[in-house]
Amino acid sequence: MFSHGAWSPPMGTDSSDLFGSLFETPPLVRVVPVLVPLPVSGAYSYAVPEGMHVEPGSVVQVPVGPRQYIGVVWHCENDDKLDPKKLRPITLAFDCPPLSREMRDFVDWVSAYTLSPPGLVARMAIRAPAALDPEPMVEGLRYLGGQPERLTPARARVLDLAGEEDIPWTRSGLAHAAGVSLSVIDGLTAQGLFETVFLPPPPIVAKPDPDYTAPRIEGPQKEAAEEIVGSIRAGGFAASLIDGVTGSGKTEVYFEAIAETLRAGRQVLILLPEIALTSSFLERFQDRFGAKPGEWHSDLSPRMREKVWRGVVTGEVQVVAGARSALFLPFENLGLIIVDEEHDPAYKQEDRVFYNARDMAVVRARIGDFPIVLVSATPSVESQVNGLSGRYNTVHLPTRFGDAALPDLHLIDMRRHPPERGGFLSPVLLRAIAKTIERKEQALLFLNRRGYAPLTLCRVCGHRFQCPQCSSWLVEHRFKSQIQCHQCGYSERTPEACPECGTLDHLVACGPGVERIAEEVEKHFPDARTIVMSSDLLGGVKRMRLELDAIAKGEADIIIGTQLVAKGHNFPLMTLVGIVDSDLGLSNGDPRAAERTFQLLSQVTGRAGRTGLKSHGLLQTFQPQHPVMQAIVSGDAGAFYEREIAERERAILPPFGRLASLIVSADTRADAETHARGLRAAAPKVTGISVLGPAEAPLALVRGRHRFRLLVHGRRNADMQAFLRAMLANGPKQRGSVQIQLDIDPQSFL
Ligand code: ADP
Ligand code: ZN
Repeated sequence: MFSHGAWSPPMGTDSSDLFGSLFETPPLVRVVPVLVPLPVSGAYSYAVPEGMHVEPGSVVQVPVGPRQYIGVVWHCENDDKLDPKKLRPITLAFDCPPLSREMRDFVDWVSAYTLSPPGLVARMAIRAPAALDPEPMVEGLRYLGGQPERLTPARARVLDLAGEEDIPWTRSGLAHAAGVSLSVIDGLTAQGLFETVFLPPPPIVAKPDPDYTAPRIEGPQKEAAEEIVGSIRAGGFAASLIDGVTGSGKTEVYFEAIAETLRAGRQVLILLPEIALTSSFLERFQDRFGAKPGEWHSDLSPRMREKVWRGVVTGEVQVVAGARSALFLPFENLGLIIVDEEHDPAYKQEDRVFYNARDMAVVRARIGDFPIVLVSATPSVESQVNGLSGRYNTVHLPTRFGDAALPDLHLIDMRRHPPERGGFLSPVLLRAIAKTIERKEQALLFLNRRGYAPLTLCRVCGHRFQCPQCSSWLVEHRFKSQIQCHQCGYSERTPEACPECGTLDHLVACGPGVERIAEEVEKHFPDARTIVMSSDLLGGVKRMRLELDAIAKGEADIIIGTQLVAKGHNFPLMTLVGIVDSDLGLSNGDPRAAERTFQLLSQVTGRAGRTGLKSHGLLQTFQPQHPVMQAIVSGDAGAFYEREIAERERAILPPFGRLASLIVSADTRADAETHARGLRAAAPKVTGISVLGPAEAPLALVRGRHRFRLLVHGRRNADMQAFLRAMLANGPKQRGSVQIQLDIDPQSFL
């Protein structure tokens, strides 16, 4: 057997060249498996050239066909019959620490669980290729003493500064500090007053200090923190769930868990669903620990990503706050993961490798044998059940911190208090807004729909504007004078005439988006300062951060927003939250619809009254009797979860049963359907697992591809992965344009 790190016997010596092989030892060349970032089922074998050092986990560059890829030397066993001389050699080995055994086990686990090619999973751990080489040293200047030929005031300032202490300066740093131009520095250097030295690059973040400020917690927060810190001291894997209402101080509690981990000299990962927008979180962390955490999200510059990646691998960066992809950062010595807002759908990646970062974070902690803390005001049903069964240790924080009270929540029955014609805001809500802004406080109107109207049609012929590549309506964006597809991003100018019947100016907008609500608000409150917040705001993340800051400072009276404003922000003056359409998420065929609606509405209404001012939440609904609406206004979350858990158990839905979804797509409807039927026919007969479908997916067409859906349903202990592997192996060969997307534990059913 070939085991990792072993040398394979030299082979391929020509027996006719007997003398040669007698007098020269053939170069020892060994074979190693390398995972390449391609959708293939396992590692490829490569020869290690003489003199190159690689070990399991080493990051290398290898050729595949005509191209070079970055891959990772893997630990699996290899075929010792391979002749290294017949294999292509590794092109180069990067000078960075190898991925740890723990990290490689994690990659293997995720690959096996999600049925994704291991190379594509490994790729997520080495996403910052240029970071693989050590950071170049920074050029600096050191003052050697002496005076220039002519001492100008500018030159004197530079020399005074540089002479103060014997430390090297960067060229621009010195110019800046002395208030001179770079040419002054260069002139002095040319006269031999400075020598060039090389400095290590500065760290990207300072070291957080666990005792920078003393913990300021007491009462229930202290008890909760002690329980969690206790499990950290005990060592080993342990999962805790902090279940506390919005504003109860959950963050302060998990900061103590972080402090304890830092004291033990280990790294911490904090996962946050919307990190790019939560600059206030970074500041809060800095207040407690004296330094910011490293950040990891898609809005970082490539340069910054490289620095953070390298800092994490070398252990220099001790805490990372990141989006879901941070879970695949190869930490040197990870000792704690926090998953904040653990219920958030943003933790699910639905692209290439389909995974839920919350669930995989638990796996990573178990493999690394360290604790994990899940945090939420509205935990997922899955985590609630794990808490009830004792797998997770749940700590509760039932009240808000200090004298802040939760908002008073009321339903507005839209059948009894309808809006005026053409409007979407009931008179009850409008009156509440008026009172709020009279008191110089803020109102938030929440509608989870971008744009002006979700559907546009022609009043004369009934023509509906649909995306040419998707089965979805085009959404009017009036600010941009466009109609857009929210599936694929297709857009066109809003036409003046109907393309079907040619009638001019007879297009009608159906239903509201945030822009349309803003229009209605402006009509009723022409003097109020309003802000529309949605992800298609011109100016991207930067602009959004500015707007959020402006809101927090009280520079707006009425905010109309999508779920962007729902997450984690602290708006001190916000005392009214109005939900424009509370029923929006309830009827979309998703088994989690009720749970999601409950979570989202609780989170949005939780934005109000965080600083002690009396606050209200008003929910417009056509279904006031619905259990979700009742649960929210009664404040009895326990009853809601109990009912929801019983319902899931009865229907054997997650976490009491298991689901996997397969989307088969192709250029033609017939190809997609035929392939999906073939897969269905290839499904093994196993008790406890059944296949539903194929059925045309609710989104039947996306980017020109026709989609069919199969849903595999299993009992809790069913081996879904084995079933799916068999189904795919026995199914029809994937030909032509056919593609299969496999989603274990799907969150989306469209
Ligand atoms: P959650 O994470 O549960 O929503 P936070 O941790 O954000 O709650 O706390 C809500 C507010 O209360 C924040 O403004 C925070 O600064 C404040 N707060 C929480 N705990 C404390 C504490 N022990 N001392 C002082 N302020 C606190
Ligand atoms: Zn489209």
